[in-house]
Amino acid sequence: MWKDLDISLEKATALKEKPSVENLGFGQYFTDHMFKMQWTQDQGWHDARICPYEPFSMDPASTVLHYGQAIFEGLKAYKSYDKQIYLFRPTDNFERMNNAASRMSMPRFPVEGAMKALKALVYLDRDWIPEAEGSSLYLRPTMIGVDPYLGLKPSESYIFYVIMSPVGAYYAEGFSPTKIYVCNDYVRAVKGGVGDVKTAGNYAASMLASEKAKKDGYTQVLWLDACERKYVEEVGTSNIFFYIDNKLVTPPLSGSILGGITRNSVIKLVRSWDIEVEERPISIDEVIEASQNGSLKESFATGTAAVISPVGELFYNDASYLINNGETGDLSIRLFKDLQAIQYGHKDDPHNWRVRVG
Ligand SMILES: *Cc1c(COP(=O)(O)O)cnc(C)c1O
Repeated sequence: MWKDLDISLEKATALKEKPSVENLGFGQYFTDHMFKMQWTQDQGWHDARICPYEPFSMDPASTVLHYGQAIFEGLKAYKSYDKQIYLFRPTDNFERMNNAASRMSMPRFPVEGAMKALKALVYLDRDWIPEAEGSSLYLRPTMIGVDPYLGLKPSESYIFYVIMSPVGAYYAEGFSPTKIYVCNDYVRAVKGGVGDVKTAGNYAASMLASEKAKKDGYTQVLWLDACERKYVEEVGTSNIFFYIDNKLVTPPLSGSILGGITRNSVIKLVRSWDIEVEERPISIDEVIEASQNGSLKESFATGTAAVISPVGELFYNDASYLINNGETGDLSIRLFKDLQAIQYGHKDDPHNWRVRVG
């Protein structure tokens, strides 16, 4: 099927000017090259190439544009002080993407071949990995169905591609807590649905609630379960943790939330520090009660973009609840520093999470 994946290389003839590191923001600039390959029923994956970053054309009837066969991933390449390049748990991203492919009736791809392509692409555009503290190169593997056919059925042709964008430090103005709006009227996902895969429609469906919360001065929404609006699920596009009575509590991966790689890393790190972690349903009432009786010490969200995002305030049913006096807690700081140090190659990597490029 993959035919030992020969990746052809077509280099850009003119390189783009790189943006200054102060103005990177998130996802606005793209590197000189991209990776892409195609899938058809008779040929499987083929035509794997690294080529100049460029638009591609597709038929207006393409499946992805009408029925949303689109899945993606997000991970980062980091440059250490001594200019080594690292990826963080990249095979976990590709395995998660393959699970998403199965769920969305899309073809799976060989992880080893995709890793080879990813490393080659990152290495080719390595000068785009910013070196300022906290900055990195964000990698976006994507797969879309491109059959020009309006009947509702899985596409018979697909494009898999990877684009890359240099991103600035998430906390340019310091590691500051967020204000979170607990969302009662909209839900993100139901068990049995597609909330546990990174498929495009989930994010379109979440925008209205997020935008409303932002308008009211909140950073993000906290989603509750779709059936009872009782149990906590996720914050925006991040997983959520509560530090209650010296135990770290996070909702279980029961089908409607995304199994974050940062979430999994946090659980493993914290357990290695002899702090108890519970993956169990946690109701918003339990969180509010814990915040009122003082047993809720900290809360934070986890994800590739921000790593750790401390929660300083929750707004629920017309009332505000401060967490840790609206300040960043010690466990959040320790996790943020430790995870970043591992990702950038600035400390030991006891779990073998780093993959070196080059
Ligand atoms: C990507 C994502 C996360 C975080 O996953 P990481 O692998 O830690 O980046 C959490 N929730 C949702 C909905 C996501 O899309």
